[in-house]
Formats: sequence, C-alpha cells, structure tokens
Amino acid sequence: RGPRDIRGDTNGNSKPEKTEDAIVDMAEQSLLNKLIRKSLVRNRNQVEVLQQDPTSPLYSVKTFEELRLKPELLKGVYNLGFNRPSRIQENALPMMLAQPTQNLIAQAQSGTGKTAAFSLAMLSHVNPGNKWTQCLCVSPTYELALQIGQVIEQMGEFCPDVKLAYGIRGNRPERGVKLQEQIVIGTPGTVLDWCTKYKLIDPKKITMFVLDEADVMIATQGHRDQSLRIHRQLTKDCQMLLFSATFEDSVWRFAEQVVPDPNIIRLKREEETLDTIKQFYVICREKEDKFTSLCNLYGCLTVAQAMIFCHTRKMAAWLVSNLIAEGHQVSLLSGQLTVEQRAAVIERFRKGQEKVLVTTNVCSRGIDVEQVSLVVNFDLPVDMAGNADNETYLHRIGRTGRFGRRGFAVNMVDSKHSMDIINQIEMHFNRSITKLDTSNLEEME
Ligand code: ADP
Repeated sequence: RGPRDIRGDTNGNSKPEKTEDAIVDMAEQSLLNKLIRKSLVRNRNQVEVLQQDPTSPLYSVKTFEELRLKPELLKGVYNLGFNRPSRIQENALPMMLAQPTQNLIAQAQSGTGKTAAFSLAMLSHVNPGNKWTQCLCVSPTYELALQIGQVIEQMGEFCPDVKLAYGIRGNRPERGVKLQEQIVIGTPGTVLDWCTKYKLIDPKKITMFVLDEADVMIATQGHRDQSLRIHRQLTKDCQMLLFSATFEDSVWRFAEQVVPDPNIIRLKREEETLDTIKQFYVICREKEDKFTSLCNLYGCLTVAQAMIFCHTRKMAAWLVSNLIAEGHQVSLLSGQLTVEQRAAVIERFRKGQEKVLVTTNVCSRGIDVEQVSLVVNFDLPVDMAGNADNETYLHRIGRTGRFGRRGFAVNMVDSKHSMDIINQIEMHFNRSITKLDTSNLEEME
C-alpha cells in the first residue's frame, strides 16, 4: 500500500480556486466550531494509519496512563474532563511521544481531538529546565492561536514551569533578547519575524514544530509562504507535526514539503445520508406566498426545532422581521454577526431557548444541531451557475449514521427553475421528494 491509498477522497477532481471571502470564511468557520464545540464529535469510522516504517509495531493506547506522562500533566488532562483518548488520539499520541521522534500528518474533521493531542504532545515534549523555546506551533489566525493557547494553558495548569508565549500581532517582546518560554504559539507572519528579524527564537533549538489547520493555512498564499520560510530555518532533526480537517491534493502536496518521512493518520468523516429524512416540496408563487406557506407550517416547526435556509442575508432578514411581526419567536444567524455573536446564537438555539433558526448557507456550514427535526429550504441551494448544489443540500438536511434521527425537509418551489432543481436533486440522490399542500398538512404527521 502506497501512502496515496489513504489520501484523497477527491477522485482526482480538484476544486475551483477559493475566493478571498471563502478563505476568511474557512478560518472563521473553524473558530466558530471551536467556540461552539464542547465535546468530541461522534465518528464511528475506523482510523486509518499508515506508518513510515510498516515493520515497526503499531502502538495504540486506550488510556492516558499508558502514555506514561508526567503526573502533573496527567492531572491536567483529567482536570479537563478527558477520561480516555479520542479515536485519533489513541494512535496519534503514542506516535507523537515515541523516541526516537517520528513525524506525523493527521487528518480528521474538526472536533476529533487534534488540538488536545498536539497540546499534550508539546507539554510532554518540553524540558521545563531549559529556558528557551523548544516547541513552535503555527496557526492561521490570531483567534485560532488564542484558542490553542487556552487548551495548552488549561492542560498545563499543573506544570507551572512550562511557559507559553503568543507570537501574534500586538505582542512585541524586546528585540534580540531570547524568549524563555518553552512553547510559542502564533501566526506565521509574527512567528517568522520572531525567528528571523527580531531573533527572539533560535530556530535551530526548536525540536517540535506543529502546523495546525494546514488546509486553512495554505488557502492564503502569504501564510503558506511564511510557514515554509519558518520551516526552512528548522533543523532536520526537528519533529514535524501537521494537522488538517480536510485533505485535498493541494494540502497533501504542502504536507509532503513540510513533513519528511511521515506517519499518516486519517479519520474519514461519517457519511451523511438522506435515508431517514422525509422530503417534501411546496409550490408557491413568490416570497410572500412562501412566507404564508411557512406560517402554515409553523406549528410543525416548533414541535421540535427547525432551521430555515435562505439564499441571501437580505432574504433572511426580511423573513425574520416578517415572522416576528406575525408574533413568532425566531432567531437569525447572520454573516453580519461576529463569530462570537454567532456562537452565542447557536448556543441559545442548542439549549432550546429559540425553536426556529433562520440562516444563510455561509453561516450554517459545520453546524450539527442534533435536535433539529425539520429543515426548510426557503431558497433552494444552488451553485454559481444556478444548478442544484447537491452537496449543500445533503449537508443541510442529511444525518450521519444508520441510526440518525428521523427528520423532515421542506423545499419551497417558486418557479419552473426551482422545480427543475428539485428534480435534479431527486435524480442525484435517487430519493423522491413529495409534493406537500401546506393548507392540508396531514402528510407531515
Ligand atoms: P479538533 O482540534 O480536532 O477540532 P479538539 O482537540 O478541539 O478537536 O477537541 C474537540 C472537543 O473535544 C474539545 O472541546 C475538547 O476539549 C474535547 N476533547 C478532546 N479530546 C478529548 C478526550 N480525549 N476526551 C474528552 N473530550 C475531549
């Protein structure tokens, strides 16, 4: 088996270039995921492991004790409420802690325990007696770097001699005086300056380099180049660890540049299916008519919880103000909100404080709200060319796992074109979408 075997799920198709907006969105999305995620995502797939040396035994651990961590570090791990290693941690941790050191490329969706894994590896790796920087971790944005730092600080709570510095904009330690912090976490630009221009870090003394969110990183040319420039300063004995939520070919090519002789760990995300979803469409004339249909559905919407998708911010705002005017309680997840505000809206919805959430596509990606039993496509998902966006459709209404909850999807059809889209979606998934009469809702029962 060559390394390629566990790589792409891309079938060789490369995705179109990402726009600048989409890039900002990737980093924001990732931050949002971190803010709203309080626990591991469920993923019952097998972890795929490809060892650099296939003859060496494959270690995996079921407990943190087996890792023989310093007691104060183990205490930090338990203090975070972690009982046992996550799926990828079972394999990744022994590899990252092995002697002699091994390099690692790991890919798994967000929420699978990657950050916790490399935070643990860094804390375990450093020698607290040595007052210089030994671990360097780069992350695509200021906010993401802070998030990682928080994890390290919490996990290292009982390791008072291990210190952490943030290589992020606004932080300007004295030029030419070497940092004493054993771990530096930051964004590529500042970290590069700290290594080269300001000489705060001696890159030759770095023995562990972590590159997080490689997919987000390389989406920005500048970040990609800066990461490579930092990497070039390091010695070849430095342990290299690279993490990514997705793995398109471009990420692989980058990973191969940064991580020589890697072990590779990969956990595929669980497939989403429409098997447990009943799909309907409603014929409407224009948006006011869609609105009326939605109001007729409202009783059904609030039985459990519902998400309503609109194509534009403007439409979402229009819909929300009209629903509120009708006396309905709804909340709006909009791209105009800051990431923190979005996280708060999602949190309230999760707790059931709001039953109905109106949103656009951009905001909703990556949100998996278990209790949503009804999804309304107020506008159908279309791609740039106006064709059915099957992937987004599946993502909005699909469920993971064979025993995923049952759900309903209602699609608003307001033109011949949108009826065509429904037909395209039906054909694509080979599942029928049934006509629904919202003035007579017996079919929904
Ligand atoms: P990723 O970096 O893959 O997005 P994180 O490391 O941020 O994943 O972990 C996702 C969530 O799961 C976080 O809230 C984290 O505290 C928690 N978590 C991580 N590892 C464990 C574990 N072994 N046991 C319980 N919770 C964990």
